Amino acid sequence: MKYQRPKGTMDILPAEAVKWQFLENTARKTFGRYDFHEIRTPIFEHFDVISRGVGESTDIVSKEMYDFYDKGKRHITLRPEGTAPVVRSYVENKLFAAEYQHPFKTYYIGPMFRYERPQSGRLRQFHQIGVEVLGSQRALSDVETIAMALNFFDKLGIKQTKVVINSLGSRDNRQLYRQALIDYLGPLVGQLSENSQRRLQQNPLRVLDSKDQQDQEIIKQAPSILDYLDSESKLFFEEVQGHLRELGITFEVDPLMVRGLDYYNHTVFEIMSEAPGFEGVLTTICAGGRYGGLIHEFGGPREFDTSFGFAMGIERVMIAMEAENDQPKQPENPDIYIADLTAEAGILGLKMAELIRKNTLIVKCDYLIRGLRSHMRLANKLNATLVMMIGAEELAGNKVKIRNMRTGNEQYFSLGDIESDFLSAYYRMINL
Ligand code: ATP
Ligand code: MG
Repeated sequence: MKYQRPKGTMDILPAEAVKWQFLENTARKTFGRYDFHEIRTPIFEHFDVISRGVGESTDIVSKEMYDFYDKGKRHITLRPEGTAPVVRSYVENKLFAAEYQHPFKTYYIGPMFRYERPQSGRLRQFHQIGVEVLGSQRALSDVETIAMALNFFDKLGIKQTKVVINSLGSRDNRQLYRQALIDYLGPLVGQLSENSQRRLQQNPLRVLDSKDQQDQEIIKQAPSILDYLDSESKLFFEEVQGHLRELGITFEVDPLMVRGLDYYNHTVFEIMSEAPGFEGVLTTICAGGRYGGLIHEFGGPREFDTSFGFAMGIERVMIAMEAENDQPKQPENPDIYIADLTAEAGILGLKMAELIRKNTLIVKCDYLIRGLRSHMRLANKLNATLVMMIGAEELAGNKVKIRNMRTGNEQYFSLGDIESDFLSAYYRMINL
């Protein structure tokens, strides 16, 4: 029987995983500087958390849920996104209480699951990094969080980015705009794709999200939501734009950009990349915005019920990162390569490896009995700093031979010296 991984999943092999670690560590470091702290919620949630949190009419809930009934007949789903779980946790753990950070600034890194038709860049298990600022009122939060995303991309070497923003205004503003959109699209319904016809029924704003060519032509002429904002919403949007300019962040306003979740209001934004890996298609690598009503929906207090967040797909960010960096990340080089030359040398090699690793150095020792020439070839290839040779002569004399690979110099070291004061012996080795 031959097994294959499930459709739409990937094995991240060690050479790739190094890049993932770099990306994730960079996120942790960057977000930490902005006073964001990690949260880890379960991989699965009650179905209702997602269906209520994301919205019944979204593609995620209506088509893409990886849901099932467990042995206790509970309706469970693998999480398709991170915001609803984080808000569920915020309310359940009363993270709005006085002893917690306010606004509550958090990030998550992990796998998400959507039952989609797998294709290039579209998986059933994919990975997201997301952040949420829960209980944040001010435009400063929006701008700080967008700046943080750009700072993160900069640290990854992703420089060719484009920031696009829009405002969805308040719930009332959206209600007016929704009607205007229905008035505009209604007479054209026959020309819309099937998907957009369905969206027009359920959630007209989402028609603007359509990727269909002919839909796009129609959408171009659609009314702008910016004409339906009240003065308060306009002021907020102007503040966001003013702050972005103060920070020297270049951006465009796209009045037809909407987001898929039902709870978005006011600022929405996307960061796009045209990196070569995307084959000439301007691709969104980070998307988010301000949302309200979700905390209350989950039973939390209204006074904190305005938040800002974004999510990015790691697989996509990786494509942009690789396109703009020619040096792929390598695994770290061994400090010491142990060449055990006889079967009897193996246990001394293992003891030495343990001692060296306790001193926080990286050791390569594979316990395959090889000749010296084969060991040296591998040590060279791995770019080891030192080689420790252990053969019959060394075993008999309670010593090891050290070769400094940079200078080519060799010297014997007694086991007694190494064991009694490893660091001073090591210092002498690297200065050979
Ligand atoms: P799309 O319109 O491409 O389906 P989306 O609106 O469903 O995107 P979001 O829910 O905003 O995407 O998720 C944020 C990011 O997560 C996306 O920009 C993308 O990078 C990534 N993403 C979403 N779905 C998938 C998937 N099935 N496979 C890989 N990455 C994904
Ligand atoms: Mg999608």
